[in-house]
Amino acid sequence: MVRNVLDIKSLEVTYGKVEALKGLELTVGDKEIVALLGNNGAGKSTTVSAISGVVRSRAGTVTAYGEDITAATPWSIVERGIVHVPEGRRIFSRLTVHENLQLGGYTVREGTLVDKRITRVYEHFPRLAERRHQQGGTLSGGEQQMLAIGRAMVAGPRLIMLDEPSMGLAPLVVAQVMDAIVSINQSGTAVLLIEQNARAALKIAHRGYVIDSGRVTLTGPAAELRADPQVVEAYLGA
Ligand code: ATP
Repeated sequence: MVRNVLDIKSLEVTYGKVEALKGLELTVGDKEIVALLGNNGAGKSTTVSAISGVVRSRAGTVTAYGEDITAATPWSIVERGIVHVPEGRRIFSRLTVHENLQLGGYTVREGTLVDKRITRVYEHFPRLAERRHQQGGTLSGGEQQMLAIGRAMVAGPRLIMLDEPSMGLAPLVVAQVMDAIVSINQSGTAVLLIEQNARAALKIAHRGYVIDSGRVTLTGPAAELRADPQVVEAYLGA
């Protein structure tokens, strides 16, 4: 039996008196692209932070490949192959593209493996290869997003969690970033895609979840969600 990459059960997270997650249930299967949709404040970022071990849960469990990681440290979660690309990209603007990619390998003990993975990133993103000596901060928004994804790929993830990768990008660039996510997925990495841009996300996802006030309100295959009147009205427009 192939195990799920991720199994989240009854997850609860609170910030002081704010209950951000109230019993969240979510799975990501092997090699799946799963979209996580929801309005501002629904709990999307909290979900990703709880998976990464950056935020502690009050109740519930997070399991990766059958192993309980609920209380694991952020570092050991990255070592287990679960990598987060945060909102706003956070690349190092004074370092070159290549140096940024090298930093992605900070948990990888074997140097030659890092070099191999950087070569793969350049194959996925030829634009980064062309700009390898350019400072990160001088890249366009779309290129910076590609660099942030590329850097995560150098850690050798089994699951990559992308927080709003389309944010602030022109439609054509959004399409390029989404294509890159598909190609990364086809090379064997599962994807949890957090997006406000439901249209773009549901185009490439296999399944999706809609969350509201810290709970899943709707889930199913992406094609079903695209046709769901509730989703159409709330997230896809007319
Ligand atoms: P957005 O799309 O706006 O980023 P989101 O779906 O990612 O929203 P979260 O950031 O997970 O939502 O927030 C969920 C709830 O938790 C919100 O009510 C938010 O105000 C609250 N929250 C998030 N972080 C904190 C914090 N550090 N302290 C207090 N409350 C917080």
